[in-house]
Amino acid sequence: MSETDEVILEARHITKTYPAPNHRILKVNNDISLKFYRGKTLGIIGESGCGKSTLMRVLMALERPTEGQILYRGQDVTKLKGEKLRCHRQKIQMVFQDPSAAFSPRMRVMDIVCEPLLNFKRIRKRDKEETARRLLQMVELPGDFVWRYPHNMSGGERQRVGIARALALEPELVICDEATSSLDVSVQKTVMELLARLQKEKQIAYGFVSHDIALVQAAAHQAAVMYSGNVVEILPGEKLGGSCLHPYTEELADSAFDFKKDFRNFSPVVKRDSADDAVFLPGCPFQNRCSRCMEICRKKRPELKTVEREHQVACHLY
Ligand code: SF4
Repeated sequence: MSETDEVILEARHITKTYPAPNHRILKVNNDISLKFYRGKTLGIIGESGCGKSTLMRVLMALERPTEGQILYRGQDVTKLKGEKLRCHRQKIQMVFQDPSAAFSPRMRVMDIVCEPLLNFKRIRKRDKEETARRLLQMVELPGDFVWRYPHNMSGGERQRVGIARALALEPELVICDEATSSLDVSVQKTVMELLARLQKEKQIAYGFVSHDIALVQAAAHQAAVMYSGNVVEILPGEKLGGSCLHPYTEELADSAFDFKKDFRNFSPVVKRDSADDAVFLPGCPFQNRCSRCMEICRKKRPELKTVEREHQVACHLY
């Protein structure tokens, strides 16, 4: 990102903890600092349980961090309450993985996409149909879909409705939480194209949360790789495939499917330990899975260091 890029939301040293059995403290997010820029996509990648979803809830002000600040255009929103917090939530919206679970099956598309606008008194009830048709046109759905129910649509169509609803309030940041994971591959591509077009037109910042490294490489201007509650590498999205440095990112890149993979001659070589207890370990959280682990890795937690322009890595090898 260049210095002229406009920061919409900044997470500063966010830590989120929960009490764990045996009087231990579970650090689900550990000292995370990230920036979301206007018109750019920050991909957040990591396996299930790495703390991505908790971080998103904290960024959306649905949960308060245990430590740290969330700055929206320079203002700390972690202290907001009541009506001020409710108004702030208009600025950051979310597209969910499974839109059918996010919508009430009893609501028509018109009510689904206009609900946020009515809640914030941005439209009158009598303007609902016209507004819904305009929002559906934005996501390339026929206007007559305003009368449909979610179960009368395909997965891709439902996700377009989810995008229309998320953009209805004209947010500056949209968090796409595994937004295309449940879709067929061909539908995934068309939804990604739609998101890219809308970003270009409206200069929205996206937080693109995914466990699919190839998708994040294709979609993100910048990517943050998470492991066991820590951001272990931040790098330009296009570097994810060949120029990543952290051993965990390398493992993720190596696991991505491509046309050259041949499982007919498969022989397992990598020992994979659970990441569940890594959060309690002193030193590097990746130590039990890392083939290059050194003595220092078991004692001292590596901090993110800048190794090249726009590239930071938390590993004692660098
Ligand atoms: S700090 Fe050590 S254990 Fe952790 S990823 Fe780097 S080399 Fe591996």
